[in-house]
Amino acid sequence: SQMELACPHCLAINRVPDDRLSNAPKCGQCGTPLLPGKPVDLTTDSFDRFIAKAGLPVLVDFWAGWCGPCKMMAPVFQQVAAEMGTRVRFAKVDTEAHPQVSMRHHIKGIPSLILFRDGVEAARISGAMEAHALKRWLASQGIQ
Ligand code: ZN
Repeated sequence: SQMELACPHCLAINRVPDDRLSNAPKCGQCGTPLLPGKPVDLTTDSFDRFIAKAGLPVLVDFWAGWCGPCKMMAPVFQQVAAEMGTRVRFAKVDTEAHPQVSMRHHIKGIPSLILFRDGVEAARISGAMEAHALKRWLASQGIQ
């Protein structure tokens, strides 16, 4: 069967067969890797469409440049994205640049991670964590 994946850059919907997800699929419209193995940056403009049409579950890291724990979390998030990027889409929102997105999702402390499925929040967790803890948390959500 196929999966419909929104491009993180141009937001075009790409149909990708399930068995090609690990073959570095690219956007048919703009050539951007759909599952780049690293977090993609979402903006006020791209957030809703990307989340709604992500195809896979999406894990979003809400962060800010002034936040120390966010800086600790960034390489962990990067590492887990490299390991699990064909099962979950990893994204980041700069809460200072895109405050409306953060407010709509009631972000109280950062870093906060929210897991979306089919465009709807499925779970969230706050505070910096190690890679093994993040993977354990994803496993508790049925993703491993
Ligand atoms: Zn594209």
